[in-house]
Amino acid sequence: MQQVIKNNWVIGNWKSNPSLLTQAKNLANDIKSINFDEINGQIMVMPTNLHLTSVIAEMEDSPILVGCQDVSFTSDSTGAYTGDCSAEQMQAIGATWTLVGHSERRTYHQESDKQLIAKIENAFKNNMGVVLCIGETLTEYEKNQTLNVLQKQLSILKEIKQLENNLDKLIIAYEPVWAIGTGKVPQVSEVESVHKNINDYLLTINNDLAKTSILYGGSVNSNNVETFAKSDWIDGVLVGGASLIADKFANLAKTFFATKK
Ligand code: PEP
Repeated sequence: MQQVIKNNWVIGNWKSNPSLLTQAKNLANDIKSINFDEINGQIMVMPTNLHLTSVIAEMEDSPILVGCQDVSFTSDSTGAYTGDCSAEQMQAIGATWTLVGHSERRTYHQESDKQLIAKIENAFKNNMGVVLCIGETLTEYEKNQTLNVLQKQLSILKEIKQLENNLDKLIIAYEPVWAIGTGKVPQVSEVESVHKNINDYLLTINNDLAKTSILYGGSVNSNNVETFAKSDWIDGVLVGGASLIADKFANLAKTFFATKK
């Protein structure tokens, strides 16, 4: 059993979905009709940048947080950085958290450790929280390299100058790359032992990281979420595909939080 009480989270990463703004607004509107009496934790959705302002407006009268999927590494504010959105701009429109290091960004944009460090620093500088995504590929999993890979990915936290002042603004999401969008999930026992290891490693960086929520992500849906929620080592879930259908996401969140009670 964990000694420290951590915050519980259900986070929906909408990726580059849906196509139309009206669909995004409807999705937000449907999700916010969840009965919040049953929610003993935090729900957050992360739409594409184009839909952020409207989804934030939709969620204004609800406790659901809205975050973004990325922030620029080049600058924390404004300037000649074509195509980038900075943490200052995200924060200004009301995005409170950002993903950093999602495997799709690591893969399709070849994001380096140096860039990830700059993104985290830029987010913290602008008072935004960071969900740092880490995870091993199938080959690494099969070669039993998971823990080494994760520790290397986490080691960038040692380079974050303002980490000490932002310990409450960090979430770790463990997402095996081979489980994302594939329908394959690891055994809960495997996730538990990985999360224990992440927790131990975080403590070597800063003892106060004991309070950092460690989420699991990868093909979580309303049918399998209960098994993950039952584990004291899983403080939340990061959900992709299953966050795009409002009633499925609502059921998933309800089941997660009901199991955590
Ligand atoms: C994700 O991309 O963060 C994710 C967990 O996706 P999915 O739930 O679709 O596997």
